[in-house]
Amino acid sequence: MTTARTPALHLNKVSYRHPGDTASALDAVSLSVAPGEVVAVLGPSGAGKSTLLALLDGQLPGWAGAASVLGHALQPERALPRHLRPDTGFIFQDLGLVDRASARQNVLNGRLGRTPAAASLFGRFTLDDHQATDQALQDCGIADLAGRRADQLSGGQRQRVAIARCLAQQPKLILADEPVSSLDPTRADSLMRLITSLARDRGASVVFSSHQPDIARRFADRIVGLRAGCIAFDTSAAGLNEAQIAGLYAEAAVAPAAQPLPDTGVA
Ligand code: ADP
Ligand code: MG
Repeated sequence: MTTARTPALHLNKVSYRHPGDTASALDAVSLSVAPGEVVAVLGPSGAGKSTLLALLDGQLPGWAGAASVLGHALQPERALPRHLRPDTGFIFQDLGLVDRASARQNVLNGRLGRTPAAASLFGRFTLDDHQATDQALQDCGIADLAGRRADQLSGGQRQRVAIARCLAQQPKLILADEPVSSLDPTRADSLMRLITSLARDRGASVVFSSHQPDIARRFADRIVGLRAGCIAFDTSAAGLNEAQIAGLYAEAAVAPAAQPLPDTGVA
């Protein structure tokens, strides 16, 4: 049962190696996110941010460790399909929009998990569904684009449709993989503010990845540094210091095991 104290997200030593890869993309990652908390996962390209979020979406079977979302344990081999988890909203880099459908229909699709299966099959959404959709379109500044087909929108507009779809779902936990990466700084700021302030208003938690320390600092309560699949630090946003950032983005160090032993001249 979910209680107020149940973490929104809990990972215990979660590891994963992509098929064909020699190194682990995630190496014993442990992380707990409280209800209502906004956490940024910060790290350079290849750190494992997308892997972590895709794993939580059930896209990567065969991981090790234990993970639960909103009090429900995830199965390493068989995750619940996304539409059966309406309390968890996802914003992914590939967006997953239906190109031939309108922006509004794409946003309305965010309500599928909240509508009885038979009704949604026939496109019979409730008044609540339509109201949540219109509100999300408006909040994301794309009400005027509602009727436009998704494949006729710019990259930034498509990103806003994906964010609106997630917000329309009214999730308790939002997992977002670089949600504003293809937007200009002003737009990125206003949408990050929107996602985090709506989440805060509703007591929802947010875990978003970013490679930009300033975005993480401004919008998260807590920042988790991920480097080469390992958690390098886990700090309050206010506590993040320059040394931690420099360490996170420093050129990859040679793994200790691969370093030659110092030649001491002693056999
Ligand atoms: P980030 O999102 O932080 O840039 P990723 O999670 O995409 O990092 O990648 C983490 C590691 O996993 C990298 O070493 C990357 O090369 C590897 N990786 C990611 N996706 C795949 C894949 N589909 N197949 C093989 N290796 C992958
Ligand atoms: Mg990524």
